[in-house]
Amino acid sequence: MTTKTNPIGVHALVWAGDTTPASMAAAVEKTKAAGFDLLEISLHDSANLDVGATREALRAAGLGVACSRGLAFDADVSSEDPAVVERGEKLLHDSLAATAALGGTHFTGALYSALGKYGHPLTAAGRRNVVGVLRVLAREAGRRHMTLGLEICNRYETNVINTAHDALVLADDIGEDNVLIHLDTYHMNIEEDDFVRPVHEVGDRLGYVHVGENHRGYLGSGHLDFTSFFHALADVGYGGPITFESFSAAVVMRGLSNDLAIWRDLWSDGEDLARHAHAFITDQLHTSRSR
Ligand code: MN
Repeated sequence: MTTKTNPIGVHALVWAGDTTPASMAAAVEKTKAAGFDLLEISLHDSANLDVGATREALRAAGLGVACSRGLAFDADVSSEDPAVVERGEKLLHDSLAATAALGGTHFTGALYSALGKYGHPLTAAGRRNVVGVLRVLAREAGRRHMTLGLEICNRYETNVINTAHDALVLADDIGEDNVLIHLDTYHMNIEEDDFVRPVHEVGDRLGYVHVGENHRGYLGSGHLDFTSFFHALADVGYGGPITFESFSAAVVMRGLSNDLAIWRDLWSDGEDLARHAHAFITDQLHTSRSR
């Protein structure tokens, strides 16, 4: 039995739909109270984020932080339009700087496209723009001792990478060692063959993990095979963050909630949801390593 322990995280949208100082203070307090090690903050609403106050609250609570985001159709590095690519590139560099200022070393998400349904396949010119922009971003991240995560999203949220295999090829083309793969069980359920083969294929290039149910509600209330997934993480010796991601129409972040098609109330009590998720992940980690 290995003694390696993964930081267990929770997405801030379990707690609050905005990033005002009061919301972030409450998110930090509730993350700590529910037993988590790390808070993931979406940078979709970063205009209202008080970076200094949030960093201090995280430090005082002894919590780690990771940041995530997707781009937008008018600021999209997978576009063929230079002005659209440039706006996407600026969002990425500003977000990387915000992540560093918060004290984070993981900047992840759909860094390569808008979050939304594309009406056409990715073009060759669009893909070259993704590779070029992310190579420059990765070098900047490397100077800050940070990693970038390529979160693999389903076909309705991006046309750039839908499978672990796609993501590995993209990371190879970017060609920087600090570009890692981010698996999310919600997306894997839609696109991958199962919950084991992609983890084995990614292996030691896995840098970040989201666990979410097939409907993004309570873990264990849906049909995802978390036992197989956690066994596969143990197989490859994954020691990085495992962050619980869940969304409900009960907590709405303007922009992101619409991008992710969060129309239903899957839960209303974020504290109960998060405590349950922490226990579920801890239990899965324990049993997956008990062999
Ligand atoms: Mn995710």
